[in-house]
Amino acid sequence: MYEEILPQIITTNDTKLLLLVLDGLGGTTNQDGVTELEAANTPNMDALARAGSCGLHLPVGYGITPGSGPGHLGLFGYNPIKYQTGRGILEAFGVGMHVNPGDLAVRGNFATLKDGLIVDRRAGRIPTELCRKLVAKLREHIKQIEDVTVDIEAGKDYRFAVVFRGPDLSDKLSDADPQIVGKPPKPAEPLAPEAEKAARIVNKFIQMATEVLADEHPANTVLLRGYATLPDIPKYEEKYKLRALGIASYPMYRGLAKLVGMDTPPVGETIDDEIALLREKWNDYDFFFVHIKKSDSYGEDGNFEGKVKIIEEVDAKLPQILDLKPDIIVITGDHATPSVLKAHSWHPVPLLMKGRYTFADDAQKFSERECAKGILGHIPAEAIIMLMLAAAVRLLKFGA
Ligand code: ZN
Repeated sequence: MYEEILPQIITTNDTKLLLLVLDGLGGTTNQDGVTELEAANTPNMDALARAGSCGLHLPVGYGITPGSGPGHLGLFGYNPIKYQTGRGILEAFGVGMHVNPGDLAVRGNFATLKDGLIVDRRAGRIPTELCRKLVAKLREHIKQIEDVTVDIEAGKDYRFAVVFRGPDLSDKLSDADPQIVGKPPKPAEPLAPEAEKAARIVNKFIQMATEVLADEHPANTVLLRGYATLPDIPKYEEKYKLRALGIASYPMYRGLAKLVGMDTPPVGETIDDEIALLREKWNDYDFFFVHIKKSDSYGEDGNFEGKVKIIEEVDAKLPQILDLKPDIIVITGDHATPSVLKAHSWHPVPLLMKGRYTFADDAQKFSERECAKGILGHIPAEAIIMLMLAAAVRLLKFGA
Protein backbone atom coordinates (compact mmCIF):
# COMPACT_ATOMS: atom_id res chain seq x y z
CA MET A 1 0.00 0.00 0.00
CA TYR A 2 1.21 3.55 -0.84
CA GLU A 3 4.31 2.08 -2.46
CA GLU A 4 4.95 5.32 -4.38
CA ILE A 5 5.28 7.48 -1.28
CA LEU A 6 6.59 5.04 1.31
CA PRO A 7 10.27 5.72 0.57
CA GLN A 8 9.67 9.44 1.23
CA ILE A 9 7.94 9.01 4.57
CA ILE A 10 9.43 5.92 6.19
CA THR A 11 11.85 6.52 9.03
CA THR A 12 13.43 4.55 11.84
CA ASN A 13 13.53 4.75 15.62
CA ASP A 14 13.91 2.25 18.43
CA THR A 15 10.24 1.26 18.74
CA LYS A 16 9.12 -2.36 18.81
CA LEU A 17 6.15 -3.51 16.73
CA LEU A 18 4.38 -6.78 17.43
CA LEU A 19 1.87 -8.56 15.21
CA LEU A 20 0.19 -11.50 16.93
CA VAL A 21 -1.77 -13.62 14.46
CA LEU A 22 -4.22 -16.27 15.59
CA ASP A 23 -4.71 -18.18 12.36
CA GLY A 24 -8.35 -18.30 11.29
CA LEU A 25 -9.35 -16.13 14.27
CA GLY A 26 -12.54 -14.68 12.78
CA GLY A 27 -15.82 -16.48 13.13
CA THR A 28 -19.50 -16.17 12.47
CA THR A 29 -22.40 -16.75 14.82
CA ASN A 30 -23.31 -20.35 15.63
CA GLN A 31 -26.75 -21.74 16.54
CA ASP A 32 -26.48 -19.93 19.89
CA GLY A 33 -25.76 -16.66 18.15
CA VAL A 34 -22.11 -16.36 19.26
CA THR A 35 -18.68 -16.70 17.70
CA GLU A 36 -15.68 -18.49 19.21
CA LEU A 37 -14.08 -15.19 20.17
CA GLU A 38 -17.31 -14.05 21.84
CA ALA A 39 -17.61 -17.30 23.76
CA ALA A 40 -13.97 -17.22 24.90
CA ASN A 41 -13.05 -15.77 28.27
CA THR A 42 -10.32 -13.29 27.31
CA PRO A 43 -9.79 -10.74 30.08
CA ASN A 44 -6.37 -9.64 28.79
CA MET A 45 -7.42 -9.09 25.20
CA ASP A 46 -10.60 -7.37 26.42
CA ALA A 47 -8.54 -4.93 28.50
CA LEU A 48 -6.44 -4.14 25.42
CA ALA A 49 -9.61 -3.70 23.36
CA ARG A 50 -10.96 -1.19 25.90
CA ALA A 51 -7.69 0.71 26.03
CA GLY A 52 -6.92 0.58 22.30
CA SER A 53 -8.52 0.77 18.86
CA CYS A 54 -10.62 -1.96 17.30
CA GLY A 55 -12.03 -2.73 13.90
CA LEU A 56 -12.38 -5.48 11.34
CA HIS A 57 -10.13 -6.18 8.41
CA LEU A 58 -10.74 -7.69 5.01
CA PRO A 59 -7.80 -9.99 4.19
CA VAL A 60 -8.15 -9.86 0.40
CA GLY A 61 -11.45 -8.17 -0.40
CA TYR A 62 -15.23 -8.33 -0.16
CA GLY A 63 -16.49 -11.87 -0.29
CA ILE A 64 -13.08 -13.37 -0.98
CA THR A 65 -12.15 -16.44 1.05
CA PRO A 66 -8.37 -16.35 1.37
CA GLY A 67 -5.86 -19.09 1.78
CA SER A 68 -3.34 -18.54 4.55
CA GLY A 69 -0.79 -17.33 1.98
CA PRO A 70 -2.76 -14.30 0.73
CA GLY A 71 -4.12 -13.83 4.26
CA HIS A 72 -0.63 -13.32 5.63
CA LEU A 73 0.69 -11.27 2.73
CA GLY A 74 -2.15 -8.83 3.36
CA LEU A 75 -1.26 -8.62 7.04
CA PHE A 76 2.37 -8.06 6.11
CA GLY A 77 1.29 -5.05 4.03
CA TYR A 78 1.37 -6.50 0.51
CA ASN A 79 -1.52 -6.53 -1.89
CA PRO A 80 -2.36 -10.24 -1.97
CA ILE A 81 -3.75 -10.02 -5.49
CA LYS A 82 -0.66 -8.29 -6.85
CA TYR A 83 1.77 -10.57 -5.02
CA GLN A 84 0.49 -14.07 -5.63
CA THR A 85 2.68 -16.79 -4.25
CA GLY A 86 2.51 -20.31 -5.53
CA ARG A 87 2.17 -23.11 -3.06
CA GLY A 88 5.47 -24.68 -4.15
CA ILE A 89 7.42 -21.69 -2.83
CA LEU A 90 5.68 -21.85 0.53
CA GLU A 91 6.17 -25.59 0.77
CA ALA A 92 9.88 -25.29 -0.05
CA PHE A 93 10.47 -22.40 2.35
CA GLY A 94 8.49 -24.28 4.95
CA VAL A 95 10.87 -27.25 4.92
CA GLY A 96 13.84 -24.90 5.15
CA MET A 97 14.94 -24.92 1.50
CA HIS A 98 16.49 -21.95 -0.23
CA VAL A 99 14.66 -20.63 -3.25
CA ASN A 100 16.49 -18.13 -5.44
CA PRO A 101 15.14 -15.97 -8.26
CA GLY A 102 14.63 -18.20 -11.30
CA ASP A 103 14.30 -21.44 -9.31
CA LEU A 104 11.18 -23.52 -9.80
CA ALA A 105 9.69 -24.79 -6.54
CA VAL A 106 7.16 -27.61 -6.53
CA ARG A 107 5.07 -29.54 -4.00
CA GLY A 108 5.26 -33.29 -4.18
CA ASN A 109 3.24 -36.20 -2.82
CA PHE A 110 4.34 -39.78 -2.67
CA ALA A 111 1.59 -41.85 -4.26
CA THR A 112 0.71 -45.43 -5.15
CA LEU A 113 0.73 -46.65 -8.73
CA LYS A 114 -0.91 -49.99 -9.53
CA ASP A 115 -1.51 -51.49 -12.98
CA GLY A 116 -0.82 -48.12 -14.55
CA LEU A 117 -3.32 -46.24 -12.38
CA ILE A 118 -2.86 -43.91 -9.41
CA VAL A 119 -4.74 -45.78 -6.68
CA ASP A 120 -3.70 -43.63 -3.71
CA ARG A 121 -2.67 -39.98 -4.04
CA ARG A 122 -1.06 -40.02 -0.58
CA ALA A 123 0.59 -43.45 -0.57
CA GLY A 124 -1.43 -44.60 2.44
CA ARG A 125 -0.32 -41.45 4.30
CA ILE A 126 3.12 -42.89 4.95
CA PRO A 127 4.81 -41.61 8.12
CA THR A 128 7.31 -38.75 7.99
CA GLU A 129 10.12 -41.15 8.90
CA LEU A 130 9.57 -43.21 5.75
CA CYS A 131 9.14 -40.05 3.70
CA ARG A 132 12.61 -38.94 4.82
CA LYS A 133 14.14 -42.28 3.79
CA LEU A 134 12.50 -42.17 0.38
CA VAL A 135 13.55 -38.57 -0.16
CA ALA A 136 17.15 -39.53 0.69
CA LYS A 137 16.93 -42.29 -1.91
CA LEU A 138 15.57 -39.90 -4.56
CA ARG A 139 18.23 -37.35 -3.71
CA GLU A 140 20.97 -39.92 -4.18
CA HIS A 141 19.72 -40.94 -7.64
CA ILE A 142 18.39 -37.68 -9.06
CA LYS A 143 20.87 -34.85 -8.79
CA GLN A 144 20.65 -33.27 -12.22
CA ILE A 145 18.37 -33.30 -15.26
CA GLU A 146 19.88 -31.65 -18.34
CA ASP A 147 21.39 -28.37 -17.03
CA VAL A 148 19.02 -28.26 -14.06
CA THR A 149 20.07 -29.33 -10.56
CA VAL A 150 17.48 -30.98 -8.36
CA ASP A 151 17.06 -30.44 -4.63
CA ILE A 152 14.52 -32.48 -2.66
CA GLU A 153 13.42 -32.15 0.95
CA ALA A 154 10.96 -34.21 2.99
CA GLY A 155 7.87 -32.59 4.49
CA LYS A 156 5.27 -34.04 6.84
CA ASP A 157 3.80 -37.48 6.19
CA TYR A 158 3.71 -38.16 2.44
CA ARG A 159 4.67 -34.65 1.34
CA PHE A 160 7.93 -33.31 -0.01
CA ALA A 161 9.22 -30.29 -1.89
CA VAL A 162 11.46 -30.10 -4.95
CA VAL A 163 13.44 -27.09 -6.12
CA PHE A 164 14.70 -27.17 -9.69
CA ARG A 165 17.61 -24.80 -10.30
CA GLY A 166 18.66 -23.81 -13.80
CA PRO A 167 18.03 -21.35 -16.62
CA ASP A 168 14.66 -20.74 -18.27
CA LEU A 169 12.34 -22.51 -15.84
CA SER A 170 8.79 -21.21 -16.06
CA ASP A 171 6.05 -22.03 -13.55
CA LYS A 172 3.30 -21.98 -16.18
CA LEU A 173 2.61 -25.71 -16.02
CA SER A 174 -0.42 -27.88 -15.38
CA ASP A 175 -0.36 -30.12 -12.31
CA ALA A 176 1.17 -33.56 -12.78
CA ASP A 177 -1.57 -35.00 -10.63
CA PRO A 178 -4.81 -36.64 -11.83
CA GLN A 179 -6.52 -35.23 -8.67
CA ILE A 180 -8.74 -38.31 -8.33
CA VAL A 181 -7.77 -41.95 -7.87
CA GLY A 182 -8.28 -44.62 -10.50
CA LYS A 183 -6.77 -42.55 -13.28
CA PRO A 184 -3.39 -42.92 -14.97
CA PRO A 185 -0.55 -40.54 -14.04
CA LYS A 186 -0.92 -37.15 -15.67
CA PRO A 187 2.18 -35.48 -17.07
CA ALA A 188 2.81 -31.77 -16.56
CA GLU A 189 1.88 -29.76 -19.62
CA PRO A 190 3.25 -26.36 -20.58
CA LEU A 191 0.57 -23.65 -20.36
CA ALA A 192 2.78 -21.22 -22.27
CA PRO A 193 5.50 -21.74 -24.91
CA GLU A 194 8.25 -20.67 -22.47
CA ALA A 195 7.28 -23.53 -20.13
CA GLU A 196 8.20 -26.35 -22.49
CA LYS A 197 11.57 -26.91 -20.87
CA ALA A 198 10.13 -26.90 -17.34
CA ALA A 199 7.49 -29.45 -18.38
CA ARG A 200 10.15 -31.70 -19.86
CA ILE A 201 12.30 -31.50 -16.70
CA VAL A 202 9.37 -32.10 -14.36
CA ASN A 203 8.13 -35.10 -16.35
CA LYS A 204 11.64 -36.54 -16.52
CA PHE A 205 11.89 -36.16 -12.75
CA ILE A 206 8.62 -38.07 -12.27
CA GLN A 207 9.83 -40.82 -14.60
CA MET A 208 13.18 -41.11 -12.79
CA ALA A 209 11.54 -41.04 -9.35
CA THR A 210 9.12 -43.79 -10.36
CA GLU A 211 12.08 -45.92 -11.48
CA VAL A 212 13.98 -45.29 -8.23
CA LEU A 213 10.86 -46.17 -6.20
CA ALA A 214 9.91 -49.23 -8.27
CA ASP A 215 10.51 -51.69 -5.38
CA GLU A 216 8.81 -49.57 -2.73
CA HIS A 217 5.31 -50.01 -1.46
CA PRO A 218 2.96 -48.16 -1.10
CA ALA A 219 5.04 -45.11 -2.10
CA ASN A 220 6.12 -46.11 -5.60
CA THR A 221 5.55 -42.92 -7.55
CA VAL A 222 5.23 -39.16 -7.09
CA LEU A 223 2.74 -36.45 -8.00
CA LEU A 224 3.92 -32.88 -8.51
CA ARG A 225 1.89 -29.68 -8.38
CA GLY A 226 1.87 -26.08 -7.17
CA TYR A 227 4.74 -24.95 -9.44
CA ALA A 228 6.05 -21.56 -8.47
CA THR A 229 8.89 -19.20 -9.08
CA LEU A 230 9.74 -16.47 -6.61
CA PRO A 231 7.58 -13.34 -6.84
CA ASP A 232 9.59 -10.15 -6.92
CA ILE A 233 8.52 -8.91 -3.52
CA PRO A 234 10.13 -5.98 -1.69
CA LYS A 235 11.56 -7.05 1.66
CA TYR A 236 10.72 -5.61 5.08
CA GLU A 237 14.16 -4.13 5.55
CA GLU A 238 13.97 -2.07 2.34
CA LYS A 239 10.22 -1.42 2.26
CA TYR A 240 9.63 -0.52 5.92
CA LYS A 241 13.17 -0.19 7.27
CA LEU A 242 12.29 -2.87 9.81
CA ARG A 243 14.47 -5.70 11.00
CA ALA A 244 11.79 -8.34 11.27
CA LEU A 245 11.53 -11.67 13.04
CA GLY A 246 8.91 -14.29 12.20
CA ILE A 247 8.02 -16.80 14.91
CA ALA A 248 5.92 -19.73 13.74
CA SER A 249 5.90 -23.39 14.66
CA TYR A 250 4.42 -24.46 11.33
CA PRO A 251 6.83 -24.45 8.38
CA MET A 252 4.50 -22.77 5.89
CA TYR A 253 4.20 -19.64 8.02
CA ARG A 254 7.94 -19.42 8.48
CA GLY A 255 8.03 -19.63 4.68
CA LEU A 256 5.60 -16.72 4.36
CA ALA A 257 7.59 -14.62 6.80
CA LYS A 258 10.83 -15.46 5.02
CA LEU A 259 9.30 -14.45 1.70
CA VAL A 260 9.06 -10.84 2.90
CA GLY A 261 12.54 -10.91 4.39
CA MET A 262 11.89 -11.83 8.01
CA ASP A 263 14.39 -13.99 9.84
CA THR A 264 12.70 -17.23 10.76
CA PRO A 265 14.69 -19.32 13.21
CA PRO A 266 13.31 -22.74 14.07
CA VAL A 267 11.02 -22.88 17.11
CA GLY A 268 9.30 -25.66 19.11
CA GLU A 269 5.67 -26.66 18.75
CA THR A 270 4.03 -24.90 21.68
CA ILE A 271 2.90 -21.33 22.33
CA ASP A 272 5.36 -21.29 25.25
CA ASP A 273 8.20 -22.14 22.85
CA GLU A 274 7.15 -19.26 20.63
CA ILE A 275 6.98 -16.81 23.51
CA ALA A 276 10.38 -17.98 24.79
CA LEU A 277 11.91 -17.24 21.37
CA LEU A 278 10.18 -13.86 21.25
CA ARG A 279 11.65 -12.93 24.61
CA GLU A 280 15.09 -14.21 23.67
CA LYS A 281 15.22 -12.16 20.45
CA TRP A 282 13.41 -9.05 21.69
CA ASN A 283 16.48 -6.82 21.61
CA ASP A 284 17.61 -7.90 18.17
CA TYR A 285 14.66 -6.83 15.98
CA ASP A 286 12.14 -4.03 15.40
CA PHE A 287 9.18 -6.04 14.15
CA PHE A 288 7.90 -9.35 15.45
CA PHE A 289 5.34 -11.61 13.82
CA VAL A 290 4.07 -14.36 16.10
CA HIS A 291 1.85 -17.01 14.56
CA ILE A 292 -0.58 -19.31 16.40
CA LYS A 293 -1.80 -22.12 14.16
CA LYS A 294 -4.25 -24.17 16.20
CA SER A 295 -7.15 -21.70 16.16
CA ASP A 296 -7.47 -22.40 12.44
CA SER A 297 -7.04 -26.16 12.79
CA TYR A 298 -9.91 -26.38 15.29
CA GLY A 299 -12.07 -24.12 13.13
CA GLU A 300 -11.49 -26.42 10.17
CA ASP A 301 -12.39 -29.43 12.30
CA GLY A 302 -15.67 -27.73 13.26
CA ASN A 303 -14.47 -27.83 16.87
CA PHE A 304 -16.01 -24.68 18.40
CA GLU A 305 -14.85 -25.52 21.93
CA GLY A 306 -11.32 -26.35 20.79
CA LYS A 307 -11.00 -23.00 19.04
CA VAL A 308 -12.37 -21.23 22.13
CA LYS A 309 -9.77 -22.99 24.30
CA ILE A 310 -6.86 -21.95 22.07
CA ILE A 311 -8.03 -18.34 22.12
CA GLU A 312 -8.24 -18.56 25.93
CA GLU A 313 -4.78 -20.13 26.12
CA VAL A 314 -3.29 -17.29 24.09
CA ASP A 315 -5.11 -14.78 26.27
CA ALA A 316 -3.75 -16.37 29.44
CA LYS A 317 -0.20 -16.11 28.09
CA LEU A 318 -0.62 -12.59 26.76
CA PRO A 319 0.82 -10.92 29.89
CA GLN A 320 4.18 -12.60 29.14
CA ILE A 321 4.14 -10.83 25.78
CA LEU A 322 2.89 -7.50 27.13
CA ASP A 323 5.69 -7.62 29.73
CA LEU A 324 8.07 -6.89 26.89
CA LYS A 325 6.29 -3.54 26.45
CA PRO A 326 5.85 -3.43 22.68
CA ASP A 327 5.28 0.13 21.47
CA ILE A 328 2.48 -1.13 19.30
CA ILE A 329 0.73 -4.48 19.44
CA VAL A 330 -1.80 -5.80 16.96
CA ILE A 331 -3.84 -8.93 17.59
CA THR A 332 -5.80 -10.32 14.68
CA GLY A 333 -6.20 -13.29 12.32
CA ASP A 334 -5.19 -13.92 8.73
CA HIS A 335 -8.78 -14.77 7.78
CA ALA A 336 -11.88 -16.22 9.44
CA THR A 337 -12.28 -19.96 9.99
CA PRO A 338 -15.74 -20.26 11.55
CA SER A 339 -16.23 -23.70 13.08
CA VAL A 340 -19.82 -23.68 11.76
CA LEU A 341 -18.32 -23.65 8.25
CA LYS A 342 -15.38 -26.00 8.97
CA ALA A 343 -13.39 -23.95 6.47
CA HIS A 344 -11.78 -20.60 5.81
CA SER A 345 -14.34 -17.92 5.01
CA TRP A 346 -14.80 -14.40 3.64
CA HIS A 347 -15.95 -12.86 6.91
CA PRO A 348 -14.10 -9.78 8.13
CA VAL A 349 -11.55 -10.48 10.84
CA PRO A 350 -11.47 -8.84 14.28
CA LEU A 351 -8.57 -6.47 14.72
CA LEU A 352 -7.18 -4.94 17.88
CA MET A 353 -4.40 -2.37 18.05
CA LYS A 354 -2.88 -0.85 21.18
CA GLY A 355 -0.06 1.62 21.43
CA ARG A 356 0.71 4.86 23.16
CA TYR A 357 -1.13 6.95 20.58
CA THR A 358 -3.98 4.65 19.62
CA PHE A 359 -7.51 5.99 20.17
CA ALA A 360 -9.37 4.36 23.06
CA ASP A 361 -12.67 3.65 21.33
CA ASP A 362 -15.96 2.19 22.57
CA ALA A 363 -15.16 -1.48 21.99
CA GLN A 364 -15.45 -3.18 25.38
CA LYS A 365 -14.26 -6.64 24.44
CA PHE A 366 -12.20 -8.30 21.74
CA SER A 367 -14.91 -9.82 19.56
CA GLU A 368 -16.44 -9.42 16.12
CA ARG A 369 -19.45 -7.57 17.55
CA GLU A 370 -17.43 -5.14 19.67
CA CYS A 371 -14.81 -4.64 16.96
CA ALA A 372 -17.65 -3.51 14.69
CA LYS A 373 -18.07 -0.55 17.07
CA GLY A 374 -14.39 0.28 16.88
CA ILE A 375 -12.89 3.39 15.36
CA LEU A 376 -10.84 1.52 12.79
CA GLY A 377 -13.99 0.41 10.97
CA HIS A 378 -13.57 -2.06 8.13
CA ILE A 379 -10.12 -1.78 6.60
CA PRO A 380 -8.11 -3.79 4.08
CA ALA A 381 -5.52 -6.00 5.79
CA GLU A 382 -2.81 -4.16 3.85
CA ALA A 383 -3.53 -0.99 5.83
CA ILE A 384 -2.67 -2.57 9.19
CA ILE A 385 1.10 -2.24 8.84
CA MET A 386 0.70 1.43 7.87
CA LEU A 387 -1.29 2.07 11.04
CA MET A 388 1.31 0.17 13.08
CA LEU A 389 4.16 2.21 11.58
CA ALA A 390 2.25 5.43 12.22
CA ALA A 391 1.49 4.46 15.81
CA ALA A 392 5.19 3.73 16.27
CA VAL A 393 6.00 7.20 14.86
CA ARG A 394 7.89 5.66 11.98
CA LEU A 395 6.09 7.61 9.24
CA LEU A 396 7.09 11.19 8.51
CA LYS A 397 4.68 13.91 7.38
CA PHE A 398 3.79 13.59 3.70
CA GLY A 399 4.41 16.84 1.81
CA ALA A 400 5.14 20.25 3.21
ZN1 ZN B 1 -4.67 -19.13 7.91
